Amino acid sequence: MNPSLLQNSLPPISTFQPDLSIVVPVYNEVESIPMLLDAIATSLSPHPLSYEIICVDDGSKDGSDALLKREAIAHPHLKAVILRRNYGQTPAMAAGFSHARGKAIVTLDGDLQNDPSDIPMLLEKLDEGYDLVSGWRKHRQDAAVTRVIPSKIANWLIGQVTGVQLHDYGCSLKVYRSELVADMNLYGELHRFLPALAFIEGARITEVPVKHHSRRFGQSKYGLDRTFRVVMDLLTVSFMRTFLTRPMHVFGLFGGVSLLAGTAIALYLAILKFGFGASIGQRPLLILAVVLFLAGLNLFSFGLVAEISMRTYHESQGRPIYRVREVVGQSEQSIASKE
Ligand code: UDP
Ligand code: MG
Repeated sequence: MNPSLLQNSLPPISTFQPDLSIVVPVYNEVESIPMLLDAIATSLSPHPLSYEIICVDDGSKDGSDALLKREAIAHPHLKAVILRRNYGQTPAMAAGFSHARGKAIVTLDGDLQNDPSDIPMLLEKLDEGYDLVSGWRKHRQDAAVTRVIPSKIANWLIGQVTGVQLHDYGCSLKVYRSELVADMNLYGELHRFLPALAFIEGARITEVPVKHHSRRFGQSKYGLDRTFRVVMDLLTVSFMRTFLTRPMHVFGLFGGVSLLAGTAIALYLAILKFGFGASIGQRPLLILAVVLFLAGLNLFSFGLVAEISMRTYHESQGRPIYRVREVVGQSEQSIASKE
């Protein structure tokens, strides 16, 4: 990679800033870690790049945390960030981002399904002037029915909603200019929406085909339920983009119209009954008045609750979505003091 192209990515900081940070979320990947670290070193050694690897242990129960801590003491490039419990891949990646100091940030999975030998190619693409280069698992080695087909549908849906049509949002192998991820508030499964969120901020994004291997050790942590969660996140994101600021304006309007209509009909019926002595017990309008009144009341209160929850959402943005137990390796003192 030509470091000059990355020079403007971040203001200089007092501590050493490597060219590259490689962020790896790890949940029960004890067999894969040693091979992954070797593969990263082999892929990057021919290149004149300074780099750090940040492995985030996301509450593993198979000893991955102990292994990472040992490796971080022995391995000068490695930093092990140990989370207090299992939070999920997105929080694990967010923890990695907050510890990354590189001018560019690569993310990849800890299970050897992504191939570190693709990293130099992604970096070359970044040098062409992109802010985010996303891997595309053109020949994806996962179960077709539960993973590949649902994620094709999810990719299409995400593209429709966000306006950024990528073949493979779910590919973890990506490279970002570091300022892109610096201010992102991640939660849920949102790490996969990073390209769309970055695009909204004006980032230049491209996709390149990368290698993909089937899992060698352990099991995938995900099944069909994840696609469901991703689609639900997507709905939340698009919902929030429209209604985030003033939900009460939307629900309040419908609720108000409905309430007014209900009240007007009720008044009309009251005048008929008390002014003209008419019988109103059999009139369909009576039911309509009650329905409209109740629906209006419901919508109105829903709008209020939505408004309150949106306020709470905004206020809660400062809350961390993960907690760090321990940081081992490199200058852990200065980094750990950020928590
Ligand atoms: N992962 C994680 N926390 C979780 C689930 C997964 O950090 O709660 C990590 C996992 O160790 C792997 C990556 O996220 O490095 C992707 O997970 P997995 O390989 O199970 O997903 P798949 O490749 O099947 O989509
Ligand atoms: Mg995997």
